[in-house]
Amino acid sequence: MSGVDLDTRLRTVVGATAARLERARGMRTVRDLLDFLPRTYLDPARPTAFAQLPHGEDVVVVGTVRASTTRQMRQRRGRILVVDVEDEVGGTIQLTFFKPYGHQDRLVPGVRVVCSGQVGSYGRSLQLTHPDYAVLGEASGATSGGWLLGGLVPVYPATPKVSPIVHGDTLDLVLHALDELPDPVPPEVRRTHGLPDLREAYQLVHRPQREADHRRGRWRLKFQEAFVVQAALARARLAQDATTAVPRPPVEDGLVDALLGRLPFDLTQGQQRVLGELRSDLAGTVPMHRLLQGEVGSGKTVLALLAMLAVVDAGGQAALLAPTEVLAVQHHRAISALLGPLAEAGMLGGDDRATRVALLLGSQSAVERRENLLAAASGSAGIVVGTHALIQEHVQLAELGLVVVDEQHRFGVEQRDALRAKADHPPHVLVMTATPIPRTVAMTVYGDMETSTLRELPRGRRPITTHVVPGGRPDWVRRTWERVAEEVRTGGQVYVVCPRIGEADDPDLPQGAVVGPGGPTVPAGDDEDGDGAGPTVTGEESSEPTLHGVHQVARALGQLPATAGLRLASLHGRLPVDEKDAVMRRFAAGEVDVLVATTVIEVGVDVPDATAMVVLDADRFGISQLHQLRGRVGRGGRPGLCLLVTQQAGGPEDGPAVERLHQVAATTDGFELARLDLETRREGDVLGASQSGGRSGLRFLRLARDEELIVAAHEAAWETVRADPDLDRHPVLRRELDQLDAERAAFLERG
Ligand code: ADP
Ligand code: MG
Repeated sequence: MSGVDLDTRLRTVVGATAARLERARGMRTVRDLLDFLPRTYLDPARPTAFAQLPHGEDVVVVGTVRASTTRQMRQRRGRILVVDVEDEVGGTIQLTFFKPYGHQDRLVPGVRVVCSGQVGSYGRSLQLTHPDYAVLGEASGATSGGWLLGGLVPVYPATPKVSPIVHGDTLDLVLHALDELPDPVPPEVRRTHGLPDLREAYQLVHRPQREADHRRGRWRLKFQEAFVVQAALARARLAQDATTAVPRPPVEDGLVDALLGRLPFDLTQGQQRVLGELRSDLAGTVPMHRLLQGEVGSGKTVLALLAMLAVVDAGGQAALLAPTEVLAVQHHRAISALLGPLAEAGMLGGDDRATRVALLLGSQSAVERRENLLAAASGSAGIVVGTHALIQEHVQLAELGLVVVDEQHRFGVEQRDALRAKADHPPHVLVMTATPIPRTVAMTVYGDMETSTLRELPRGRRPITTHVVPGGRPDWVRRTWERVAEEVRTGGQVYVVCPRIGEADDPDLPQGAVVGPGGPTVPAGDDEDGDGAGPTVTGEESSEPTLHGVHQVARALGQLPATAGLRLASLHGRLPVDEKDAVMRRFAAGEVDVLVATTVIEVGVDVPDATAMVVLDADRFGISQLHQLRGRVGRGGRPGLCLLVTQQAGGPEDGPAVERLHQVAATTDGFELARLDLETRREGDVLGASQSGGRSGLRFLRLARDEELIVAAHEAAWETVRADPDLDRHPVLRRELDQLDAERAAFLERG
């Protein structure tokens, strides 16, 4: 067979097995099969101790046949072959065959065998029933299992209806049929980094002689993956740099200066530095493409506003896109407040230089919406604030010069691309994220952008103290709600965050639940810190505790002695937007003491007097999300308090979910938490849908672990693309990137 490459259909190479591989694993091409890597390797020289074999799992084991008996079956007709195989430490596993023929001649005492099957038991002995096997060193010339004869034995995740030995045989066929493979990693890069070529890499991971082989092969495959991603980013970036944006140079005594003159605070040094970067980007003809990252509350919004004003000063318009309506409304309000008369163009008392700020929401009345659209289209509104979808679909901006995307972690890479695609002269783009981004993610997801980072918080921000509250400890729980009441008594406001909305007619929370109406009642004591004096709840709750819903919790808090007298309100995504807005407004104005909400408050909501937050079922939230949530409190002059309530017992023995809570409680360093988060989340969650779907997803790289490699690949890729922007000298790489683009485009079209 010849002409086999990565895109060759499997079925043309391996016949019938291809259909089973496709059904079970979606494998269609040679590439799919080769990219499916072993999960581990066995060394026949160092066999498994059988006693440790996991019951019910598919295993591949190596051992020596000690005995082989054929006997009549008792219950049915026919004979059974039982072969005792021994490991090196004297453990035994039995192979059983209901049709002895053929096997009994090969499985004779003394031979070494590799067997694979599902571990079961019969009486007290471990058993593999009808295992696949191969006899080591058997000079049979048999086509099956020949690959087991030398080197390490690769073990793959089990594939239904394809036994490990058939899988191995299939790979053998493919590896032998493979021609020299076109390699997207150029030879000079391979030389510099000591990488095997692609074909050899596959050989090394699937047929290693020793440990170092498969490591080398795997390293190469990861390098390639990182290299291709980086080359794609580099190419996109260079193409974009070749377009021109309308430059927006600083204007003396314009809106920027006017706002700086009326801010009630001085910019921090970090803010000043970033403002300088933004202004110089905007003054250029290369479209700005900058990521601004900074902790919640680090003062990104005011910078975004200054950038937008710089564009307005220079005759353009700016759009600010928010992920939710609540946030859009809040931005609109915050911006209008900061601007004051500067946002009141044409109105009595408006400044001469003033512009207007339009707001666009899906839920506005037709009249309101038309007015705002008109202001945007006519250019009378210099700034347009709205939700992402709305602005993108409906707005014709007369002179769009800058798009600011807030809280990027809610948007995918794909939306960013869509934004860029819109205008003839691409607008400058500023993306803001409050989730600190580990270096490898920044490189992989935002590798085509410049980054600015705000590391300090404005003065006056007070630290947040975080505690984990075990919901099974009534004394701690009672104390939690007393703390809530105390916060309110001393002038603070409190968020109570629930993992779900629930229904208005949901039954009351069960007795003993964290805020159950008849909730845990315990003789009062001054066990303030819950040092263990209170009773513990027996661990009898059903495996899945009911998660707290907003409706239930609001109702329960209204009845709980500690909180019954407080002014409570609820907020969640299912409320009509004007109601949401009204609730936020009342909370912001201090007319509500306790806001029971879902994570709609996660992003950006800014209420300075909010001093405490209780997160119920906190173990259901991710690390970054919790960090983000608690950033809502302690924004005024008072220290913040965050209580993470879990229905688990609350100790480290509860496993990773509760462990996460303790990590969040232990530090407020967002970068450290982002790193931890990356380790616990799947790549797809980090990269967004399109990057994890299809072949454009990361198959081999682990962003949490492969930093060194990603940095090396980044440098190599950018160097390659800079030296050969059209990739004329790198046709294989170009084809690979074009294919990726096509897949990405197809993905976008599908939505
Ligand atoms: P972010 O968007 O980064 O979460 P914001 O821009 O919403 O943060 O800022 C949080 C709060 O801090 C706002 O009330 C804002 O007006 C205020 N603020 C911003 N910069 C400063 C500063 N340099 N000094 C004092 N307060 C500031
Ligand atoms: Mg913000």
